[in-house]
Amino acid sequence: MAQISCSFCGRRKNEVLILLSGIDAHICNYCIEQGHQVVLDEMRPQKSEPAEIKINLIKPVEMKRHLDQYVIGQDEAKKAITVAVYNHYKRLMQAKTDDVTIEKSNILMVGETGTGKTYLARSIAKILEVPFCIADATVITEAGYVGEDVETILTRLLQAADYNVEAAERGIVYIDEIDKIARKSDNPSITRDVSGEGVQQALLKLLEGSVVNVPPQGGRKHPDQRMIALNTENILFICGGAFDGIERHIAKRINTRPIGFSGDRRLNDTFEKGHLMRYISALDLKSFGLIPELLGRLPVLTHLEPLDREALMKILTEPKNAITKQYNKLFQMEGIELQWDESALNYIVDQALQYGLGARGLRSICESIITDAMFELPSQPNVKELTVSLDYAQEKFGKSSTYQLRSVA
Ligand code: ADP
Repeated sequence: MAQISCSFCGRRKNEVLILLSGIDAHICNYCIEQGHQVVLDEMRPQKSEPAEIKINLIKPVEMKRHLDQYVIGQDEAKKAITVAVYNHYKRLMQAKTDDVTIEKSNILMVGETGTGKTYLARSIAKILEVPFCIADATVITEAGYVGEDVETILTRLLQAADYNVEAAERGIVYIDEIDKIARKSDNPSITRDVSGEGVQQALLKLLEGSVVNVPPQGGRKHPDQRMIALNTENILFICGGAFDGIERHIAKRINTRPIGFSGDRRLNDTFEKGHLMRYISALDLKSFGLIPELLGRLPVLTHLEPLDREALMKILTEPKNAITKQYNKLFQMEGIELQWDESALNYIVDQALQYGLGARGLRSICESIITDAMFELPSQPNVKELTVSLDYAQEKFGKSSTYQLRSVA
């Protein structure tokens, strides 16, 4: 008996994963996927009927007030971002016939790891209620090399928008670790720079505002998938990176000015590390290895301050969803009241400062202190309260592998 095959593409049963049978025909999983895509495309509103723009646009001051509930400090970055986002969406609402074209305000954030770059981008998208996704610049390579193509960034945005193309076209993309794709040498022609300049060029295509064919399932594993055309003109790109060592470039630029400050010791002192960041300019990023074309597409440049002890303490206790509040909630659900002694909180902050992971360290330190209790207490119904004292915190954290690893180092 002849082997059954897909009535649409002719693939035989052993060549497909699923073959559904109808009255007189069969259909394979590949054709179902393609068919589904066709249906989605057909159901999209036609370009000629302008889609109603639904964005929860609020004024910069209010936007910042919202942000303040979640993100501690970083006032300068908050201001730059809220203004850029506000203008970006005003631009979206601008009448097409207007003769003044407002240009896009993609944003570049520079700041040490764990200072809240991703968190800021995520929070702003949440406030605006637009689709949001995070991409990592380090996994992208030039087309044709092992790694991800730049288009897959947009796949994630499409997924975040539930494949609603109109919504995705107004979304926000956060590209992390943009500093890791800096050009490695000043002379681009020595060797092919697969993960550096080539990727920057590829990213340009997205940032510039063009129609990009996006693989809806991402990756190169589904060669049969039908591409979805996405216009990136109104997508807001926020890039972030730590740019380790950029202070040297800033210092060099400031000191080598023809009419410079080099002779003035007092001024030189104020330009010490930490302070230097606030003088960052596109020139420094260029000497760090970002190509001018890319910098031109990221007109809003802002920096995040390293988090000091006071900021870390606030992060631990103040925001709406502060880490300690989250644990309190978890314990409350078990009928246990959790208390944190001031001295224990100070200890956690001290440890986080030593690790130099910014706010990121806080969570893992708390986790290693509290895990034992979270493991044992649900089985001890008589325990109704727990106080995390300094002794308790020191004992639990001292036993953790994070702490022991550091002691070895
Ligand atoms: P980055 O992207 O700068 O490396 P993240 O934004 O990923 O850092 O920060 C890691 C986590 O630390 C966040 O999820 C958030 O919980 C917390 N965090 C960092 N900075 C802040 C801040 N300024 N205010 C409140 N929480 C913060």
